[in-house]
Amino acid sequence: NKLVHPTSAKLPPAVTPPPQPFQPSKSLNDRVGLIRGDITTLAVDAIVNAANRSLLGGGGVDGAIHRAAGPELLRECRTLGGCETGSAKISGAYRLPCRKVIHAVGPVYDVLRPETSEALLRGCYTSSLRLAAESGCRSVAFSAISTGVYGYPSREAAPVAMRAVREFLEEDKEGKIELVVFVTFEKKDVDAYNDFLPMFFPPE
Ligand code: ADP
Repeated sequence: NKLVHPTSAKLPPAVTPPPQPFQPSKSLNDRVGLIRGDITTLAVDAIVNAANRSLLGGGGVDGAIHRAAGPELLRECRTLGGCETGSAKISGAYRLPCRKVIHAVGPVYDVLRPETSEALLRGCYTSSLRLAAESGCRSVAFSAISTGVYGYPSREAAPVAMRAVREFLEEDKEGKIELVVFVTFEKKDVDAYNDFLPMFFPPE
């Protein structure tokens, strides 16, 4: 009988190393990035759109994303049933170089209720990251939600965005999200993000 019991068979040497468990870094620095540019050009897993509740397109970054993705994006967005302020939905990316588009609906900034605006803005970041993780997206680029037409002051929005991302990454023990990129476009956001990033993600 030539059959060999599997446990006694000599195994060939491993060619590829077994997958390593995720190693959380001492600081979160290597899991965040900051760039200035057009979010529609980024080949990350998911880009986060600053959408409105209809999810049917608009101006600003929303318009740029729909133009670059092509009409198929609007076709899919019509099936999503809109989205609550402070939350997010996910779609395909069509002609964009990314894999998914997460449509987050930021608040129109309310000077009389800044704490309400803050809770809703935080919700955008947290829901987007949760959706990204659930959908297997490991790299996520955020536009500066609400800081355009919706009037959220950049110097208030940046720390809200960064605190939400930081808290999510700290809780993300399995390391589902490997990279979060903050994408700024206008100078006011570039300045605000540059100032706040080292406070929330201090250098080693
Ligand atoms: P909101 O209505 O949520 O304020 P806007 O689209 O008006 O959304 O602005 C959100 C942010 O997106 C602003 O900081 C704006 O400068 C920025 N933005 C506009 N176009 C682009 C783009 N192509 N890539 C990245 N960010 C952009």
